[in-house]
Amino acid sequence: MRAFMVRLPSGAGYWTVLDEELAVVPFADAFLRHLRFGRDGAESTTRAYAGAIALFLRWCARTGKDWQAGAEQLGLFMTWLAHAGPAASGIDAEPGAVVLAGPGAVPARSARRVNAVLTAVRGMIVHAVTEGTAPGRLVRLLFEVADDADLPAAARGEDGSPGWRVRARHRLHEPQRPVDRAADADIVALLGGCCSARDRLIVLLMARAGLRRGEALGLRRGDVHLLTDSRELGCEVARAHLHVVRRDGNPNGAVAKSRRERAVPLDFLVVQAFDSYEFERMGVPAAASGDFVLSRHPDNTYCPEPGVIRTLSPEAALEQAFFAGEVRIIFWL
Ligand SMILES: [Zn+2]
Repeated sequence: MRAFMVRLPSGAGYWTVLDEELAVVPFADAFLRHLRFGRDGAESTTRAYAGAIALFLRWCARTGKDWQAGAEQLGLFMTWLAHAGPAASGIDAEPGAVVLAGPGAVPARSARRVNAVLTAVRGMIVHAVTEGTAPGRLVRLLFEVADDADLPAAARGEDGSPGWRVRARHRLHEPQRPVDRAADADIVALLGGCCSARDRLIVLLMARAGLRRGEALGLRRGDVHLLTDSRELGCEVARAHLHVVRRDGNPNGAVAKSRRERAVPLDFLVVQAFDSYEFERMGVPAAASGDFVLSRHPDNTYCPEPGVIRTLSPEAALEQAFFAGEVRIIFWL
């Protein structure tokens, strides 16, 4: 059982699940296709869900159950998820590999990850029931239904008729951990480690303008308005800013996560970083025709100095470069 990417002739893609014979698993595929095209979910969502469903089906296969019997025992699946590392839960696990976890063993997956896997599995089961390919009793095993008689009057419906509420029965408690953002000193140290204007722009776009890596990667040159007054360009937003626009089907695979377009104000540091990057980029003739702000040409990926992009091989795609940059920032927290 493995997740697998399907690219349709239209260019749109989604992830599905293949079985050991590399055949599509029909009920999983129906759900993932519905998620992508019926609910307009992101390709990355179907990827995460397909991975989670593949895990569930691997557990079913390795414990000798069909998937409906597995759905009746999600509690056991949760225990397996928490303790089965790659050697027992991976695609290439040895046949007969067993989970051995003693007291004090570090869990293989966090509570948050287990809950995320369960969300995908529940979605698939409910979809199969809705389509009529699985018995309806499975849904009752997944959700707890309660009426609202125990709620205060203010929280009940206005017309006095009984209401119902539903919650998932299988769920781990996720410990709250406060997020510690990078201090200015961390960002400065990171900037000091950069070896090119492009790297510095990447760091500043994420640190000062708060862009996600997919958003920075998807920036087109027309999205950046660095003038004090951009009305000449047909934009009413005052001062230097850039527009984060979600575009599906970017050739470099970048997707802005949010569907809502937004304008992000830029301070003088980021504007200066744009300036010096522009000079650097002008020195790479092949980058001139590219519409992306961050050109895919290896203009400075070969940089010999230590820096954000240093750990990457020259063949690494820009996406990976961003990933390395982001991982570094997270590690520096
Ligand atoms: Zn604008």
